[in-house]
Amino acid sequence: MATVTAHALGAGHLTIPERFFVNPADPDAKRTVPSLSFLIQHKDAVSGEVSRIVFDLGMRRDLSLYPPALESHLASRQPISTEPDPVASLAKGGLSVDDIDYVMFSHVHYDHVGMPRDFDNEKTKFIVGHGALDLLNGTTKHDLGKHMVFESDLLPLERTIELPAPDVSNSSSPSHTQFAWKRLGPFPQAIDFFNDGSVYVVNSPGHLPGHINLLCRLSSRKFIIMAGDACHDVRLLTGERDIATWTDETGKNCCIHVDIPTAKENLARLRAVTKDGIEVDGETERAPVELVFAHDFAWEEDAVKKGRFWPGKI
Ligand SMILES: [Zn+2]
Repeated sequence: MATVTAHALGAGHLTIPERFFVNPADPDAKRTVPSLSFLIQHKDAVSGEVSRIVFDLGMRRDLSLYPPALESHLASRQPISTEPDPVASLAKGGLSVDDIDYVMFSHVHYDHVGMPRDFDNEKTKFIVGHGALDLLNGTTKHDLGKHMVFESDLLPLERTIELPAPDVSNSSSPSHTQFAWKRLGPFPQAIDFFNDGSVYVVNSPGHLPGHINLLCRLSSRKFIIMAGDACHDVRLLTGERDIATWTDETGKNCCIHVDIPTAKENLARLRAVTKDGIEVDGETERAPVELVFAHDFAWEEDAVKKGRFWPGKI
């Protein structure tokens, strides 16, 4: 059975007011949370070749390198920390950007895209979900708040792969042939990334176009799903809180998710896998799934204690 290792990478922190994420909320509550990045290492069973994925790059280490349009939003997310960034975090275990084959983004909000330009080796491919490129180039626009600022030059397009649309089948486009969406447990669409059942890209719609999760098999009896911004607070998973909506100063209804009903359906699937585990083809028992979302401060605290940050326990 093919498995991978997964380590967290420090990628900065930001401070988020509870009222934008959960309902009911304490109007004054704020919390400084991580924006987690992960290193996934895969060894090919036949060739022995190691491939490495970095999933999300967190906060940009120099905030002045964000577009000026984000300035007032960033001020509202202070305190922010940006060190170590994923490059410095990789170096703690002797890896550099040249060792990374894929940089994959859960989605292209500023607090997840970090500094893609650091990954300048020609072999490194960027992977984004379907619809992410149209956000970056401005074709798709959502007027939903000051954090919705995207950069057309964020990624080198010649090294970027946009995954095929999850709801279109039988396409003959090259990315469709290489990456086919199939059902996996409660998830209607997942891609078996290495074709050996060790890493699945899971379509995770609702937060932003192209939002994806990464489900990794760590052992015969353990999966972990990196859920990005599908969930911002553990109480949304337990059902103790609902997704927040609010009215801004111009009277507009706002939510951090672009499609609330779809985000809720997606959350229900994530809740189901954390509760019941996941059925994998050909296996009789469901395997347990651990869920970590990008801003999961409790997971981070526990991971620090348990040596789950790269390079792990000495
Ligand atoms: Zn985020």
